[in-house]
Amino acid sequence: MTDIKNNGPGEEQLVIDKQYKLQERSKAIEIIKKAMGLAREEIPNGKVATYIPELGKVDPHQLGIVIKPLKGEKICMGDYDVRFTMQSVCKVIMLIVSLELCGRKAVFGKVGMEPSGEAFDSLVELDVSNSKPYNPLINSGGLALCGLLLPELSFQDILRFTRNICSDPEIELNEAVYESEMKTCSRNRSIAYLLQSKGILNKDVEDTLRFYTKMCSMTATADSLSNLGAILANDGVCGDSGKRFMSSRTARIAKTLMLTCGMYDGSGSFAIKVGIPTKSGVGGGLLSVSDKRAGLGVFGPALDSQGNSIAGCKLLREISNDLRLNLFYDPEWNRETEEENELIKGIRESHII
Ligand code: GLN
Repeated sequence: MTDIKNNGPGEEQLVIDKQYKLQERSKAIEIIKKAMGLAREEIPNGKVATYIPELGKVDPHQLGIVIKPLKGEKICMGDYDVRFTMQSVCKVIMLIVSLELCGRKAVFGKVGMEPSGEAFDSLVELDVSNSKPYNPLINSGGLALCGLLLPELSFQDILRFTRNICSDPEIELNEAVYESEMKTCSRNRSIAYLLQSKGILNKDVEDTLRFYTKMCSMTATADSLSNLGAILANDGVCGDSGKRFMSSRTARIAKTLMLTCGMYDGSGSFAIKVGIPTKSGVGGGLLSVSDKRAGLGVFGPALDSQGNSIAGCKLLREISNDLRLNLFYDPEWNRETEEENELIKGIRESHII
């Protein structure tokens, strides 16, 4: 399972051009291999999503990762080319397209910019305390953006854009997952009608729901997500083709919201433990952006209680520590000094307190 894709003669190339320390490719491969082993141990603690019955059939033991540095060759490991449905990862694409087509004012007229602190399919905060969804990366926010996009675009347009931005012409609609979710999406249907009652969704609710669910059912691989991540890491430009897919500002907004809201009600702890803007989906996908360094795609369908890939999160945590990808990387940090006692002693010794 932990095959390493043979990338040929770039073996000793530096994997990630970092500010503080450079890792050699072979060393990075060792680090990722070790992290994969630790991450696999988490799989028995998670479960595949079953509220979409078709997702319940997926093998929970799969795990794969691709790291695509802005310079140098990709590193691909494990089930990196297995297809899965994007689910909520596609909300990043909805956001990018909405910002580019409709503009910031229109987008943030429909959705907020704040973490919700609630489950991804919650109706509570939308009904009780807020006039619009907290952010575009939860179900209510995604549905609101679909209402904005529907008059502008067809599903085929979105599919084409997704294939292009992921450099993956094989992305398609997984009909079985789509049909399965349409039969069981009463929570999303409730959210959509609630949005209509608040005047946020003006389009036909059922059309919007179908459009949203189709986007969630687009297939990707860890490899395709790493390509999208690398474009976001490179301010919206594809490093391979030189093509700009979005403005710098759109890329910045997407990355910021991924950091603060991308992991639902687990976003805060993920930001502290991993510190890499990431968007998860209940299909087991994780799209991560190590800004100016690399795009990362992960697949691990066993989920934790918040609906995030349990092994994928562990994998990213290990890699973030060992490859120094944390956004707030501290060059003096190491596992030993993470101990609380050490820190308190450090403060005392320096007479800060
Ligand atoms: N299609 C799923 C839903 O709407 C996406 C949720 C997710 O990935 N968290 O429930």
